[in-house]
Amino acid sequence: TSLFTNVPLAPVDPIIGVSQAYKADPSPNKVDVSVGAYRDEQAKPYVLKCVRAAEERLLGATKEYLPIDGIPEFNLASAQLLYGKAMNGQEKRMVTVQTLSGTGAVRLGVIFIRKYLPAGTTVYASRPTWVNHHNICKESGVPSAEYTYYDNKNNCLNFEGMIADMRAAPNGSVFILHLCAHNPTGCDPSKEQWGIIADVMAEKKHIPFVDCAYQGYASGDLDNDAYSARLFFERGFEMFSAQSYSKNFGLYGERAGALTIVSHSEAAIPKMLSQLKMDIRAMYSSPPTHGARLVATVLGDPALRALWIDELKQMSGRILRVRKELYDALVARNVPGDWSHIVKQIGMFTYTGLSPAQVEYIVKKYHIYLLASGRVSIAGLNSKSVPYFADAIADAVK
Ligand code: PMP
Repeated sequence: TSLFTNVPLAPVDPIIGVSQAYKADPSPNKVDVSVGAYRDEQAKPYVLKCVRAAEERLLGATKEYLPIDGIPEFNLASAQLLYGKAMNGQEKRMVTVQTLSGTGAVRLGVIFIRKYLPAGTTVYASRPTWVNHHNICKESGVPSAEYTYYDNKNNCLNFEGMIADMRAAPNGSVFILHLCAHNPTGCDPSKEQWGIIADVMAEKKHIPFVDCAYQGYASGDLDNDAYSARLFFERGFEMFSAQSYSKNFGLYGERAGALTIVSHSEAAIPKMLSQLKMDIRAMYSSPPTHGARLVATVLGDPALRALWIDELKQMSGRILRVRKELYDALVARNVPGDWSHIVKQIGMFTYTGLSPAQVEYIVKKYHIYLLASGRVSIAGLNSKSVPYFADAIADAVK
């Protein structure tokens, strides 16, 4: 007997489960469009050249512990990357700590919400959203709920529904908003819509929690992609932001990210920092060195930064090209339905609108691995696999 015989088996994460099935499939035709990681035209993982160059500079660096809140230059550069000029002169009412990538930033922020916002404050996430938002709230003991986001029938944003849900939520609720390149739908509000969202959030005293996993990855332009966070900042919100360098620096396994909290009160900042440090200390003492050093090196060196911006343009450009190729291939095959959402959506993912049954058919017959929700990681496709995938969709919807 064991103390642990009663431990129930946890459900498999839907994304991880699909990726395991892909790995186990011996078919030479198999295609993985499930995982949210960039692949090059050869469907291979890609390490950015700016990262390789920074790695060379870091050879021989010590392995000493970092401060509990991470590398100061990394934290400042992260906040500046997201908030841009808007934060000039405002630094004293912001606190940024290095985190275990975007996931760690969301987690730390949600713990802070539980401890220091009024009891019962609910965290709202879009329907659908990155599944981990709800896992994190649940595990952190924070109530979470959904707000309307996607219109499954018309494959676009349900903006009226979103605004109605924001109005209906209790004043002072936290709203997780995806900075850009919404995961999983690839569907973002327009600039005008962001303005209305900010109006309603202000009226309702809601608190934006901006999840920034794809800055630079949506349009290829870092400033353009940061629009929503800067809008909330400029409108004077107290807010949270969680940054991830997994996608835009390709640092998936290095776990480099940052949590920033913006306050109205400069005096609150040292106390907030002290609490964030206490939580970090109790969880893992201090963050990992390598990824944050790489980011700080690239962001702090004009030549490497220019190289990074160029590589971001190439990655986001390839994704845009593949979107167009997939759309054209579906039109060329006269596949019934309107597929224009594939080219209207932005970022790594497209929400195809395929039903779970159609997805299952494609996985079984074609060995193309996408999520049951119909989400496809466009980065997993290339000019060679697009015709095969279009054939599979044509077959599944006919
Ligand atoms: N938020 C969203 C919306 C994401 O898509 C992701 C990446 N899948 C993350 C946060 C965090 O990823 P990571 O922990 O790798 O930075």
